[in-house]
Amino acid sequence: MAVVVQKFGGSSVATPQKILAAAQRAIDAQAEGNQVVVVVSAIGKTTDSLIALAEEISRNPPAREMDMLLATGEQVSIACMAIAIHALGAKAISFTGPQLGIVTDSSHLKARIKSIETAKLREALEAGSIAVVAGFQGIDEKYDITTLGRGGSDTTAVAVAAAIKLAGYDVRCEIYTDVNGVYTTDPRIVRKAIKVDVISYDEMLEMASMGAGVMHSRSIEFAKKFNVPLMVRHAATSEVGTWVVGEEAWMREVPVCGAALAVNEARIVLDALPDRPGVSRAVFAALAHVNVPVDMIAQNVGSGGKASIGFTVMHADLKKATETLDPIVAELGATMTVTERVSKVSVVGAGMRHVAGVAEKMFAALAANGINMKMITTGDIKISVLIEEDVPPPDDDDDAGTKKSHLDAKRAVRGRLALEAVHDAFGLHMPRTGAGVAPSGYRPRTLSAVVPEARERETAVAKLDGMEDILVSGVHLSTDQSRVTIFDLPDRPGHCSTVFNAVATGGILVDMIVQNITAPGKAELSFTVPRGDLARALKRTQDVARSIDPNCRVVGDADIAVLFVLGVGMRSHTGVARTMFGALAAKGINISMINTSEVCLGVVIERTHAEEALAALKEAFKLS
Ligand code: ASP
Ligand code: MG
Repeated sequence: MAVVVQKFGGSSVATPQKILAAAQRAIDAQAEGNQVVVVVSAIGKTTDSLIALAEEISRNPPAREMDMLLATGEQVSIACMAIAIHALGAKAISFTGPQLGIVTDSSHLKARIKSIETAKLREALEAGSIAVVAGFQGIDEKYDITTLGRGGSDTTAVAVAAAIKLAGYDVRCEIYTDVNGVYTTDPRIVRKAIKVDVISYDEMLEMASMGAGVMHSRSIEFAKKFNVPLMVRHAATSEVGTWVVGEEAWMREVPVCGAALAVNEARIVLDALPDRPGVSRAVFAALAHVNVPVDMIAQNVGSGGKASIGFTVMHADLKKATETLDPIVAELGATMTVTERVSKVSVVGAGMRHVAGVAEKMFAALAANGINMKMITTGDIKISVLIEEDVPPPDDDDDAGTKKSHLDAKRAVRGRLALEAVHDAFGLHMPRTGAGVAPSGYRPRTLSAVVPEARERETAVAKLDGMEDILVSGVHLSTDQSRVTIFDLPDRPGHCSTVFNAVATGGILVDMIVQNITAPGKAELSFTVPRGDLARALKRTQDVARSIDPNCRVVGDADIAVLFVLGVGMRSHTGVARTMFGALAAKGINISMINTSEVCLGVVIERTHAEEALAALKEAFKLS
């Protein structure tokens, strides 16, 4: 028998009628022959009200007591849900996180799950009851109540599904919310956006940064780690939503499946940094130390013994970031420039790994709209560009939450224009296999239900230990790439597009791209191509660069190695960059280019150090 975990968010249980409707969904799923677990959030805006209540009493409530308070929200909704299921004539039993044995670490208000007991849950399911579980909460080893951070019920749902799966059940997870599913982009900004039938975990993770994030990134990382199929769907309609699953070959039939806009970021550029091992580590270790997550990182080749690094942080963290970096910058004799308000526009798709010209198409669409790119980075399945907005930054003391980010998106005039332009350029409004549509008859692959022996179940549960630990799933080394760099490219709309058009017309597959504005009005653009294509790429680039500005310098480097750390938790764990750069610095290996996305972090180093660097990273991330 299959287990269905249904998660209902606060808006889906906001009224008694909605609770009854959700209860009916659970009963229907059971009637279809499934065993059902329901995970619920606090009713409506309860968590917000509880926080407001505490703040009226104290400006600085202790985190332990906040968890005691916030956990009550979900306790109300599980009781109500169980009452509703009984009222509709089925059996239900509710559990708080602690009762069920959802054990977390002791970081109050942002606890991480360490293990989940499934004995009680299985007992309830085997007895024919619907198990109702409180989202967002757990218990630490001292028996103190903890919560998982705002939006944490998604994580509870996926973690419970993973635990049940490891206990040998066939499982899927349905996330009921107030949207119909995942769209090609935010439909509030681009009206032509369409709902996507199926998307891969990685594509969803890369899209999640778009702010209208339908699910908590952490829960998607989790689903990927344990391969739990998810469906995101509307709580009030019977319309089928979006499956979020492992990557399938047909997803690669189109290069791009979605576009995303992230607002509220700020850009920091450090110039005239000494180009030697350990410098990037010093910068990112300092930021990780004060818990400032860094999003895009672009470091270029550098010339004359100097390098520059550009990166983005959330606008709300900008002050903390610059204060932390001030002394480091002074010590290194570097300079720091800040761009207060930037928007990030990205295109995402599993298919872009193997198709030439994706970057060129994106840059051309932006150039046609007169939009200048301040920075470019690429991931395995994502290309992001940074655009400067000319509106003043938002007031960070405003209300937090989705509403605010939507308001800010409204003010991100250039970002919105850019998003619309790329959505059009890739024809994302037209449903095709791989971009919106799944092949007919598609069903996500699930495990066959082999219920293991009791002893094996013990090991399965043990495997959950540390389930939220950082998961770097692999380190990849590529030694068959070469690099082309253009120095002093005038910083004006259209130039990158012209360059990549010349390269793409030669049928050359561009892999990593990093562009950073270095001197005022000048950009430095680097990209990697297969080594066999270097001579041709160089020739084409030289010709086109000369036609743009005879003062551009074009340099090729065949002796590079590209190292990628791939995995989940790159964004929610500030420390990945620190560990990676630290491991390389410890070996005295210099990094000449850095590039990031949500699910990968790439660096370019000298090829002579390739094997040594690979070994150092495997050791640092404990990969065999
Ligand atoms: N009730 C918690 C919150 O509002 C958890 C959740 O809704 O996922 O953040
Ligand atoms: Mg909520």
